[in-house]
Amino acid sequence: MCDLCRTLPQEFPRPHPPHKCRLANALYCSSCASYGHILADCPAPPPKSSTMPQYVEQLVPPSLIKALNITTKTPLPESLLAEQEQSITTLLNSDEFIRTWLKNRGIACKSKAEIREKLAEWAKDNHTRIQFVSK
Ligand SMILES: [Zn+2]
Ligand SMILES: [Zn+2]
Repeated sequence: MCDLCRTLPQEFPRPHPPHKCRLANALYCSSCASYGHILADCPAPPPKSSTMPQYVEQLVPPSLIKALNITTKTPLPESLLAEQEQSITTLLNSDEFIRTWLKNRGIACKSKAEIREKLAEWAKDNHTRIQFVSK
């Protein structure tokens, strides 16, 4: 069993060698353009300064910057920069999987509609963003 599947609910993964993990092979890293991990777990992630806005002016469309001739670089407030340091939780995009995953965290879902609602609630409480992968 690979390290990634060790964290999954017991009913889901079948024993397999790490290089044949279907879940890991579905993960894509846009930094090194390869499969096997997500950007958050990248061994060589790009610096935050190149992936996140650092100045207020970066939030303004470039056409406006040019039209209004804005040349300043006002640093974003610290609180906004800290918010960007959010973690990512990767889950299989399957209601059945999410229901079991939530159950393992002590959250019971009565109806199918409730599953995504409870997951969004969990993500908000744990300050994480949910990323779905298909198989
Ligand atoms: Zn695996
Ligand atoms: Zn990577």
